[in-house]
Formats: sequence, structure tokens, C-alpha cells
Amino acid sequence: DFAGYDLVVVGSGFFGLTVAERAAAELGKKVLILERRSHLGGNAYSEPDPETGIEVHKYGAHLFHTSNKRVWEYVNRFTEFTNYQHRVFARVKDQVYSFPMNLALINQFFGKSHTPDEARELIAKQSSEFETSAAQNLEEKAISLVGRPLYEAFIRGYTAKQWENDPKNLGENIITRLPVRYNFDNRYFNDTYEGLPVNGYTAWLEKMAEHENIEIRLNVDYFDVREHIPAGTPTVYTGPLDRYFGYSAGRFTWRTVDFESEVAETGDFQGTSVVNYNDQEVPYTRIIEFRHFHPERDYPKDKTVIFREYSRFAGEEDEPYYPINTPENREKLEAYRELAKAEAREKNVLFGGRLGTYKYLDMHMAIGSALSAFDNKIAPHLTDGAPLDGSLDA
Ligand code: FAD
Ligand code: UDP
Repeated sequence: DFAGYDLVVVGSGFFGLTVAERAAAELGKKVLILERRSHLGGNAYSEPDPETGIEVHKYGAHLFHTSNKRVWEYVNRFTEFTNYQHRVFARVKDQVYSFPMNLALINQFFGKSHTPDEARELIAKQSSEFETSAAQNLEEKAISLVGRPLYEAFIRGYTAKQWENDPKNLGENIITRLPVRYNFDNRYFNDTYEGLPVNGYTAWLEKMAEHENIEIRLNVDYFDVREHIPAGTPTVYTGPLDRYFGYSAGRFTWRTVDFESEVAETGDFQGTSVVNYNDQEVPYTRIIEFRHFHPERDYPKDKTVIFREYSRFAGEEDEPYYPINTPENREKLEAYRELAKAEAREKNVLFGGRLGTYKYLDMHMAIGSALSAFDNKIAPHLTDGAPLDGSLDA
């Protein structure tokens, strides 16, 4: 039965849950969430590994960070955060380097200690081969920023594996920020707030859905039940945008990742949570060791869970993970944006989230975007019947 709801939300990821929570708690509206998978939470979902109890992120490692105070205060209503700070190391040949590129990496790579000024001078000389503003592809852009030796060791192989393409054929816009830090700072994120949910992602996601006005139906694909939902019911759709319109403007392409899971018979496999494997000969891009996300927890001392990540193009049955910025995809997105606007006007359907906008969104961005969509569009519609504005850039 699909009657009697003020709002239908398709998808229980962070975007959908934020909208549902606000409508239920703030406006007292009755919300129905439909979720295709057998669990809530979208890609941030995590679960204990059955053998070791170690929390694993089933759809890839998720690190929470934000500089948005409103988002930080909002998420803290549902969970406490640990003081985890993310750091990544990079393995090249038989060495492991401190990443992102910093003074420790430069000293180790060139086998000599440098002052910050000396390192700056060295990289300036090595990167003079190309002018950044004149770079024609990813390779030239990267060399213009970090120089050829660091490019060949840390960027070429990794990028080729991640995108299955020679960096010479990739757009220079994939690499916008490739910081070289002329100090020993190796924190991965620059954001004001960072941490991991103390009791795990799933406890946080479940807490968001706890309100008595929210009902979640799992294992339900919206397209199987759509005809039973009363016409005009306000709907927030966070599934794939192209699927909603029957791929009428073409299919988007995506990158996906295969996670190869292994329980290793040691209490510590690599000494840290993430090691990138930058050599092209190694088939995976990185190894995640989940126990290191929660050093405060009491995990078994003789076993550890690792995921090796393999990146490839997504087939139709695969999980779509990363949008691919090509002219073809941008063109399709423009066409779907027009369709989405009309759908909002005529059928009260609003599109949001990562799949619903074909945009890579971090968690804090999905939540922030949902909070704005709620304030500016959904709440005015639910309270005063204001028409839903369907532009995709909430
Ligand atoms: P999703 O979480 O994808 O939720 C969409 C939901 O809709 C899914 O549950 C899906 O099953 C459901 N659905 C789709 N179609 C239908 C349908 N027809 N009927 C019913 N339900 C449907 N962010 C960070 O901040 N830090 C990180 O470290 C980080 N790492 C990431 C690593 C990977 C590999 C990926 C892919 C993403 C990562 N993210 C990270 C991004 C994060 O996952 C997203 O910000 C977040 O998932 C966005 O939430 P969403 O609600 O938009 O989409
Ligand atoms: N990159 C690289 N070497 C690395 C890590 C990243 O060359 O060790 C490049 C690569 O082209 C990648 C891009 O930087 O696609 C962005 O990487 P990041 O790790 O920020 O992306 P994520 O996979 O976390 O979304």
C-alpha cells in the first residue's frame, strides 16, 4: 500500500536519509523510503566482517571530513566521531613513501635531505619542461606541477590503472590539485572537521532513519512499484538519472571498483589503513586495512581484513561508482537536466544525490546538498505547496 504518505524517497543513502529525516522531524510529515538493496545506507553502509568482527566498508573505504559547520553540527546529532586523521602512504618499487608528496617523500626519493627552499627550487627546475597553463593532457599538466621524476614514479602508473588509459590521452582537468607540500605535513584532508563514526557507519545511518514517521521498505525497486504510488505524491529520487528516463538521452558511463577481500593471518598487515600501489605492474591500485580505521577498538590480534582495489569500466550490472568527465557524458547530462526540470514541474519529482545528478559527491557534500534542497525546495513545497524547482544544483 503506497497511499497516505506525504513524501516518497527513492534510495536510502545520505541524500535520501537527510531529506527523509528533515521532513519527518522538522515538519512532522509521513515519509516512505524505498530501497532496492537489502540494507539501508547506500554506499556508506558498513558491516562487521563475519570472521573477525572488524568493521568493513562494503562499497569502499569511507572517510568523513568537512569544513561545513552546518553539516558537522547536523551529523553530530546522530553519531559521535573519533579523532581519526586520515593518512595515505605510497608504495613504489621496494619503498614506501609518506604521501601526499611532501618533504619526507622528496628527501627519500632523491636520497638526500632538503630544506623547504631547496626542495622548492628542485621541483621548480624539474617542472619547467611544460607550462601549466599550456598543458594539453594529464601527463603534461602533472609534469608541469611536480616534474617528470615524481610524475613517473607516483602518478603515471596509478593514473593509468585508475582510468585504464595512458595519461597522455586523459584530460588535464582530472588533476586539478596535486599538492607538493614543502613541509612534513602528511594529513590527507585539509578540512576543519574529520573523524569516523564511533559505533560505525550503519549505526549512524540507522539513527537517521529512526523517526516514527519514517518507514523504510528494503528490497523494493522503485520502478517495480511506481504505478502503485498515487500520482503527484512528492518524490525525491536518488537513483541513476538516466535510468529514470529510460536512457532516452543515452547511458552514462561509470567507473567501478572490484574489492578483493582477504582475512590475513596476522594482527597487522601493513601498519596503516591505506597504501597506494603506484607501480603499473601491480594490478591493484591500493590496499585498505580496515582495523586501522579504529585503533581504539578491541579487535583480534592475530587476524586482519584487507581489501585490494581493482578499478575498471562499469558494465550494466556493476555498481556505478565514479562519473567519467567526457564531452559525451556532459552532453547527456545537459539533456537529462532539462527532462528533470519538467518532471519536477509536472510530477513533483525532485532528483538528488550522487546517482541522481551524475556528480561525484563526498558524504558531506551529499548531506549539505540535501539540507539545501530541503530548505529551498522540499519544505516550501510540503508546507505551502510551492512548485518544486527541479534544477539539479541544489
Ligand atoms: P548512494 O549512497 O549511492 O545511495 C543511493 C541509494 O539509492 C542506494 O542505496 C541505491 O541502492 C538506491 N537506489 C538506486 N536506484 C534505486 C531504485 N530504482 N529503487 C530503490 N532504490 C534505489 N565520500 C566521502 O565523504 N569520503 C570517502 O572517503 C568516500 N569514499 C568513497 C569511495 C567510493 C568507492 C565511492 C563510490 C564513494 C565514496 N564516497 C566518499 C562518496 C559517498 O559514497 C557518497 O557521498 C554517498 O554515498 C552519497 O549518497 P547518495 O545518497 O547520494 O547515494
Ligand atoms: N593520483 C595519483 N597517484 C596517487 C593518488 C592519486 O596519480 O597515488 C591521481 C590519479 O590520477 C587519481 C587522482 O590523482 O585519479 C585523484 O586521486 P584521489 O586519491 O584523490 O581520488 P579518489 O580515488 O580518492 O577519489
